[in-house]
Amino acid sequence: MKLVIIGNGIAGNQVAFDVRKKDRDAHITILSAETVPEYDPCSLPYFLGGECGRTDVFRKTPEDYTTHNIDLVYDSRVVSIDPEAKTVTTHGGGQISYDKLVLAHGGDLFIPPIPGIDNPGVFSCKQLAETEKLAAHNGSSAVVIGSGAIGIEAAEALKRKGYAVHVVELMDWILPSLFDEPTARRLETALKGYGIHVFTGEKVLEIKGTGEVSAVVTNLRTIACDTVVVATGVVPGTALARTAGIDTGRGIQVNRQMQTSVPDIYACGDCVETIDACTGETAMFQLKHNAIEQAQVAARHIVGEKTRYLGAYAFARAHFFSTHAATFGKTQRATDCILGDKRVIEREDKNNYLRVMLLNNQIVGGQAIGTFADGLGLLIGAMWRKDDFMEIAAKVRTTPRGGAVHTWPMLRLGNLLGM
Ligand SMILES: Cc1cc2nc3c(=O)[nH]c(=O)nc-3n(C[C@H](O)[C@H](O)[C@H](O)COP(=O)(O)OP(=O)(O)OC[C@H]3O[C@@H](n4cnc5c(N)ncnc54)[C@H](O)[C@@H]3O)c2cc1C
Repeated sequence: MKLVIIGNGIAGNQVAFDVRKKDRDAHITILSAETVPEYDPCSLPYFLGGECGRTDVFRKTPEDYTTHNIDLVYDSRVVSIDPEAKTVTTHGGGQISYDKLVLAHGGDLFIPPIPGIDNPGVFSCKQLAETEKLAAHNGSSAVVIGSGAIGIEAAEALKRKGYAVHVVELMDWILPSLFDEPTARRLETALKGYGIHVFTGEKVLEIKGTGEVSAVVTNLRTIACDTVVVATGVVPGTALARTAGIDTGRGIQVNRQMQTSVPDIYACGDCVETIDACTGETAMFQLKHNAIEQAQVAARHIVGEKTRYLGAYAFARAHFFSTHAATFGKTQRATDCILGDKRVIEREDKNNYLRVMLLNNQIVGGQAIGTFADGLGLLIGAMWRKDDFMEIAAKVRTTPRGGAVHTWPMLRLGNLLGM
């Protein structure tokens, strides 16, 4: 079998090495747009902030590919797929044939059409090469456009490097797709406490400067700066799939075996539109654990094993300096369009905050800051099992303290919910 994988990221590598474990004869080729072995994108802000070295970001060495007889071809961005001829074409014009093809090319950084965005003082933190340029840049004042998880992590890293840091967010609060306003405002206060300036509900209109960045102009102010980081989100790459006539929606559409609508072409990772494991709804959770699991399913199916993807999990964290927050499931805002009996339970104790979203007495989401975040796993379990919250609360209240067997989870849940 000739297996070709497009993308040398988390998902692509998982497919390649999993297939190799089960099929010693397969001819495996990874076509990479980049020029380095697999690294962990989640580590890039830590590298930027000097918390780890460049070598620490890698998940593979060049030798790992040779040892496992995997052909990694650098600088080979695939530009089109011909499913009739079963070939792919790279930007250099090279053609590679396949028996089975895996699209694992992740998402693309969304670049907003802002005048000045092409200025050399404008960077991103999504890929290693870009992050290296930002790390080597000799600036002192930065504006981070966008306050998603990547933007906040980049802001922290630049602060650690001694920059004056400003975060500009178009939406009304930071981390808007992960947290509701009450959680986000608390995190904003924490960020400001670390000396990071945060402006929400503000739109960047222009990046000023010729050759070098001199300022960022928003609808409300002008911020003098010499560095801009674009962190305005990741959009799933669907253009390549469309060259093969593959069905796409928000991302590449796949079935439970990670097969696309075109025979012998699979897709996994940040480029796919998948389903929420808890609700069965269409979902786009571009997170590492989901990419790995989807790739494992694709690999099993490629080698002929029976397999079924159960769906993706919305679980993410936001961590900066000594503030730690986590979120799972739906935000309150995401439940706005759903009919049913909705309730939000909130709890606050010093710097620890918890909010749990209930829909018809079932947990559908939760957010926590501080030590309350440590107990979120218990709530995720309850959401997954679709436990009735009233029954949980009754059990918590009636569980005997001390001595009885199997009481620990209930006591822990009781502590978390303040019952
Ligand atoms: C700064 C940062 C922090 C993150 N933090 C977290 C976190 O804390 N927790 C978490 O769960 N997730 C986090 N993520 C997201 C996580 O990294 C992704 O979900 C995961 O990397 C997705 O894996 P992937 O293989 O689908 O895509 P990627 O890892 O993005 O790999 C795709 C690869 O394909 C290549 N490629 C693209 N187009 C082509 C083409 N046409 N031809 C050939 N190659 C191509 C790309 O260059 C890239 O190397 C973070 C991401 C970033 C950038």
